[in-house]
Amino acid sequence: MMYGDSGFRNGYSQYGARGEPRYRRGRRGPGDLRGGRGPFRVCSYYPSSSSSASTPSYAQPLEGDRASSPRWLEFDRAYFQSYSHVGIHEEMIKDRLRTDTYRAAIMRHQHFIAGKVVMDVGCGTGILSIFCAQAGARRVYAVEASEIAVQANEVVKENDLSDKVIVLHGRVEDVNIEEKVDVIISEWMGYMLLYESMLASVIFARDKWLKPGGLILPSHATLYMAPVTDSERYRDSIDFWRDVYGIDMSAMLPLAKQCAFEEPVVDTISGENVLTWPFVVKYVDCYTVTAQELESITTKYRFASMMQAPLHGFAFWFDVEFNGPPMFPLNNHLHFPPANSSSDFYAHGSGHRKKRVKSDDVIVLSTAPEDAPTHWQQTMLYFYEPIEVKQDQIIEGSITLCQSKENPRFLNIHLEYSSGGRSFVKESVMR
Ligand code: SAH
Repeated sequence: MMYGDSGFRNGYSQYGARGEPRYRRGRRGPGDLRGGRGPFRVCSYYPSSSSSASTPSYAQPLEGDRASSPRWLEFDRAYFQSYSHVGIHEEMIKDRLRTDTYRAAIMRHQHFIAGKVVMDVGCGTGILSIFCAQAGARRVYAVEASEIAVQANEVVKENDLSDKVIVLHGRVEDVNIEEKVDVIISEWMGYMLLYESMLASVIFARDKWLKPGGLILPSHATLYMAPVTDSERYRDSIDFWRDVYGIDMSAMLPLAKQCAFEEPVVDTISGENVLTWPFVVKYVDCYTVTAQELESITTKYRFASMMQAPLHGFAFWFDVEFNGPPMFPLNNHLHFPPANSSSDFYAHGSGHRKKRVKSDDVIVLSTAPEDAPTHWQQTMLYFYEPIEVKQDQIIEGSITLCQSKENPRFLNIHLEYSSGGRSFVKESVMR
């Protein structure tokens, strides 16, 4: 099982799901298990479609290091299998904030999209491709490597859009089309933004298929971190063992801490858990970012707690913006953020962010604790032992996020943190 209820509903990644990836949260029961259908390619543009009909496209030789590495191919098979189940798509589509924001962004850029050619990288059920067709796109290449492409093609047919929306069943790294595209749209964000490493596929598509001056949606992404207090979680899962029906089960504490907090926890926290303003771990400009830049990210951070409280760990979340294409392309891609980017609101030097100034000019999909919940929730790294911090006490250290050697779609997290004269290191893997 690639993802599902067993390990992550309560956010405790160790309970029952160790070693199993959680590409997205999704409900999956036996009814969802649908196997045996051979991969195919739904592509009237593909002269080779008949020969590839029984061959998974992701098993073909590909371009580039990542695309052709046998390790990627092996991991991708498992990854795409996880996206062939209905539950994961149901959950994403039912995430109204996510889906409505994408639709609003498409409609906001309708003047750019109308009459143009779009590529939807990872179309899933085809929903974003159909939104683009509704916005007047002349043609949409809906690329999807998992078996859900079969259903996407049916959905397109039933909506009488087969003349506009071409479903290509294969990895974007494999597919071949006969023209360049004006727009790339993709919903690529994983937990902690970078889990799944799907952004690399969008970068690949951008470099290969996007025309100079083309539009990428979303255009920018920001990963944040902030120190959090969460006594309730400690009470529920750790202190609980101190008195169980009158029995002292403190002997369970080390195991309980390990099971609950060794690895990142995906769950919802509220703005009240957050001890101070967040820090920008990584700002991504989708027009210019390189895959190499994402392989390993290290940032030093420094917070001053705004209150006295036990510090239980750090929370991570992200937002994405849907800005228009850069105005002055340099070698195909611009090297500074567009004027209307909400990145104007960040102090990049310090990495700190005050509350985003809401602006009608910028469409933002936020997964912050103070905003409406999404299926991404927040990701927490909890400490085994809380640290009592006073108001204005400094919490500092560094964080490194890098693609795991075990599986490049997993994230290795190296966290160093110091406060009140004590220093710690926490290593974890988001798998
Ligand atoms: N666009 C859909 C699905 C988003 S989930 C929606 O918004 O509802 C991401 C999808 O991208 C998954 O279905 C996954 O299988 C697909 N995907 C990820 N990497 C891909 C790649 N390299 N080539 C093609 N599809 C990919």
